Amino acid sequence: MLRRFRPYFHYLREHRSLLLLGILCGVISGIATGAGLPLMVDRVFPVVFGANAAPLSNWQLAVVVLWLPLVFTLRGVFGYLNAYLIQLAGTRVLESIRRDFFRKLQVLPLSFFGRHSSGDLISRGLADANQLQFTLTTVANEIVKSPATLVGAIGVIAYKAYQIDGLSLVLVCLAAVPLTVLPIRHIGKKLARRSGSIQRELGAVSSRFNENLAAAREIRAFGLEDRETARFSLVTRALITAQMKFVKYEKALAPMIEIISTLGIAGTLLYAYRIHLDLPTFMALITALYASYEPVKRLGALNNETKRGLGALDRLEAILNEPVTIKDPPQPVPVSRLRGEIAFSGVTFAYGDSPALSDVTVTIPAGTVCALVGPSGAGKSTFANLVPRFYEVGAGAVTIDGIDVRQMKLADLRRHIALVSQEPVLFNDTIYENLRLGREGATRDEIMAAAVDAHADEFIRQLPLGYETIVGERGALLSGGQKQRVAIARAFLRHAPILILDEATSALDSDSEAAVQDALRKLVQGKTVLIIAHRFSTIRDASQILVFDRGRIAASGDHTALYAGNALYKSLYDRQSAHGAQ
Ligand code: ADP
Repeated sequence: MLRRFRPYFHYLREHRSLLLLGILCGVISGIATGAGLPLMVDRVFPVVFGANAAPLSNWQLAVVVLWLPLVFTLRGVFGYLNAYLIQLAGTRVLESIRRDFFRKLQVLPLSFFGRHSSGDLISRGLADANQLQFTLTTVANEIVKSPATLVGAIGVIAYKAYQIDGLSLVLVCLAAVPLTVLPIRHIGKKLARRSGSIQRELGAVSSRFNENLAAAREIRAFGLEDRETARFSLVTRALITAQMKFVKYEKALAPMIEIISTLGIAGTLLYAYRIHLDLPTFMALITALYASYEPVKRLGALNNETKRGLGALDRLEAILNEPVTIKDPPQPVPVSRLRGEIAFSGVTFAYGDSPALSDVTVTIPAGTVCALVGPSGAGKSTFANLVPRFYEVGAGAVTIDGIDVRQMKLADLRRHIALVSQEPVLFNDTIYENLRLGREGATRDEIMAAAVDAHADEFIRQLPLGYETIVGERGALLSGGQKQRVAIARAFLRHAPILILDEATSALDSDSEAAVQDALRKLVQGKTVLIIAHRFSTIRDASQILVFDRGRIAASGDHTALYAGNALYKSLYDRQSAHGAQ
């Protein structure tokens, strides 16, 4: 079982001395528990209660009565140090696992997020990591102390037995110990399977939560409150069922071990009667026996807890070991400054089975504006997503200035691209920090200048705290047009030769609209621009228009040529014009 944790041992290296000290403290505490109590029964009781005991001097009496507090102080203080020190090391490991998990989420390809719901991923990062933490805590408390207690107690039994009768008494006393292994193994196996399903169900509950919270508006608009609650009840019921199956077995273990251990005590009673054992010796043996079964019980429970922790580790590792398919090439082509000529040659791409792009070949000269048009689902966004290498082409190649995007470092490639999406995402931070994301290392003056260029400065200054205003989750305190302008300012800051622009479909208020359009006109100058176009004004200004239809480029050219020669384009354009004229 420890093998599973081996990859994480290196995290412990810097805490090695603490860990060793912790283990030492555990041994002292365990032996104090296992041997201290039986020895007290053996030594102290006869002195105090023995029929023919000699009267004690004051200091002898003090030593005798202080034996118990002494044992418990040793057990308590060293037990505390043991738990604290080992847990310190354990939580450091956990912290590293959790950080690695989060870091991994930053570099996984976007296709990964199509396969995993964010609720499930959050559940792995929080609930599974918590489970693992709990396991480490429990294990830390017992893993050294319990075996040491067991050794201490067995030591006392062996010592007493040696004085009286030799080996046979030891064997009789401990006869039941091997039997306790049976339920531990059996139940452990059952639990291993069930703990995985608990964590899975937790993931499902978390997904439901997440999806529901993200759709608060729709749920109210469509009157889905009851349906959602019913759907939520289903997953919570499944979670509870999984948990109860676990509890059913988990709670059976301790009583089973106790019952089996009483067989050992019964055997000892019988034997004691046969060989006329005196009461104090018998009491010492029974205390030692009790002290030895207790750690067995705990180790059994520990075994279960470890199974549970491993279930959680499995779910964390499933993500940690997920291959990062989109990464830097081993020998990247050095890139200083790209001009921005984009070329697709024979590009085919599929998200799943059916292709979203088939055999697309086109060149977009540097410094020109290219509009992507076509019905929804035709492949426009997919085309744009392949340029920053958000996805990997299935066949063919995407090149910039003749260099395959797969041959550049991702950071080099993406440094040359600015992205303005339909619904820009802002972080829950100040406007200033949100702007600064545009380029690491931008100065305050540059940031302000970008805001001015994007027509964002004017509204920002009217906010209560100006640039220091916090924008709320995903920028909730700003209007759609304001968020767009912040996104445009970020794009200005980036100074990238390539600009990918997903035009907003939703109508902005007319002031915002004019400001956004003006800012965009300035932004696109001198850049290679890909616009996923929803407006006819943009289309008409483009030097090249690509008409997408079911994953292919059905036609390309400028507006006049396409309007005259392509029926799909004509119908799209006429529809947009009618829409625009409304
Ligand atoms: P457009 O931008 O022209 O509306 P897209 O490029 O978004 O079209 O989509 C092209 C095709 O790929 C569609 O059939 C769409 O359903 C599919 N698709 C788009 N994004 C994904 C995704 N993340 N996972 C799976 N399929 C997708």
